[in-house]
Amino acid sequence: MNKPKIVILGAGYAGLTTAARLQKKLNENDADITLVNKDHYHYEATWLHENAAGTLHHDRSRFEIKDIINSAKINFVKDTVTAIKPDDKKVELINGVLDYDYLIVGLGFEAATFGIPGLYENAFMIGNIDQARLLRQHIEYQFAKFNNETEPAQERLNIVVGGGGFTGIEFLGEIADRVPQLCKEYDVDRNKVRIINVEAMDTILPGFDPELIEYAMNSLEARGVEFKLGAFLKECREDGITIEVNGEKEDIPTNTTVWAAGVKANSLVEKSGLEHNRGKIEVDKYLRVPSHEEIFVIGDCALIWNKEIDRPYPPTAQIAMQEADVCAHNIKALVKGGEQEEFEFNNMGTVASLGHGDAIGVVMGDKKLFGWYASVMKKVIDNRALYKIGGLGLVLKKGKFNFLG
Ligand code: FAD
Ligand code: NAD
Repeated sequence: MNKPKIVILGAGYAGLTTAARLQKKLNENDADITLVNKDHYHYEATWLHENAAGTLHHDRSRFEIKDIINSAKINFVKDTVTAIKPDDKKVELINGVLDYDYLIVGLGFEAATFGIPGLYENAFMIGNIDQARLLRQHIEYQFAKFNNETEPAQERLNIVVGGGGFTGIEFLGEIADRVPQLCKEYDVDRNKVRIINVEAMDTILPGFDPELIEYAMNSLEARGVEFKLGAFLKECREDGITIEVNGEKEDIPTNTTVWAAGVKANSLVEKSGLEHNRGKIEVDKYLRVPSHEEIFVIGDCALIWNKEIDRPYPPTAQIAMQEADVCAHNIKALVKGGEQEEFEFNNMGTVASLGHGDAIGVVMGDKKLFGWYASVMKKVIDNRALYKIGGLGLVLKKGKFNFLG
């Protein structure tokens, strides 16, 4: 092989971190590297709940990809991938076709709607900047419209969040903070607004520490969040949802259903014809596709087994960035020679925000954090992610420093 062609799909945590590492490890003469992303910017997906609620402007969560990559070493193509053709070693884009010697798939996640009627058409998601911005504007419009009607409609002020996992809980924390501001701005009585969480299991954050779950529920309930536990969201309409609790159906009128009840890998992965496990590619210890070792799959598109508990690792930015480090190392080894590295997840813990100045988390194995201290830790983690991609300059430009709560 002369100068190998390396194509990276997606400039999320996985893809952009890989690109940032590769441009330090390889020279212009070592390889032709192309990074493809559908937008000209990278967004911090882990901040999207803030953008969606309107507590943080979306421009704070995104930055230009060209500011991160060295254009002498990496060719950035702003385009949308439409198909991956592993047997032809080609990737189809809306505006062309790329061929590769090594492919890195980091196309991220989509909402999983589990075939629930009406969800895809009527619910709002928190999966990218476009979706977050739409949800923020939709909620504001509901408040703005409320006092402009002769018969004000309660469904405008009922905000339902489907799913009480980390995404749902983090969004609830932000929207609980945002609602009093919206009430003030649009002269709406706070008592008229309902924020309702619908969670299928009998607890929010299933599997997380019970003491921290209790803390989170108390924090959110104190700001007016209602929990419906053991409640399955069964149907979503433009003006309401149907839930089922203990076999009984209940309708809740709402113009705002936020679907935060699970994610799946980008569906292009499943459509590629590569063997998959519920849409994700189970990669080998070097993060390669077993049947096509020139393809690496990282981030939310990859499935890696946690042998300790015999379950896959959950899809997180934390693991995506660690995978990117190993992937970049292994690509360099393939191009310049050297040993490939095996991937091993180093769990740094989990911290979830509950809104302004409040959070919960478990770090350093079993150290529990909550309240202001946890919220500071969450900002440190958010800043660390920026640092890993763009160094100190990016932290100073986009970082979170409002530590006072
Ligand atoms: P993504 O971040 O989804 O990036 C994929 C990239 O591919 C994007 O740039 C996208 O535009 C691009 N792309 C997609 N399709 C195409 C296409 N067809 N053509 C071209 N480009 C395309 N994880 C944590 O570890 N900690 C947290 O605190 C945390 N908080 C979260 C909060 C929220 C609200 C959400 C939704 C998720 C959170 N996560 C968190 C999970 C984390 O965001 C994901 O695991 C992570 O984003 C996965 O990284 P990725 O690079 O695989 O994909
Ligand atoms: P999730 O799968 O973790 O949680 C989804 C929740 O929705 C579950 O509690 C599930 O019981 C519930 N649910 C599913 N179907 C339902 C239905 N029909 N009706 C009602 N409830 C239903 O998904 P997520 O919260 O989007 O998280 C996705 C990934 O991102 C996870 O790996 C998570 O760890 C990660 N994440 C991490 C953080 C953090 O570390 N701070 C924040 C957000 C997301």
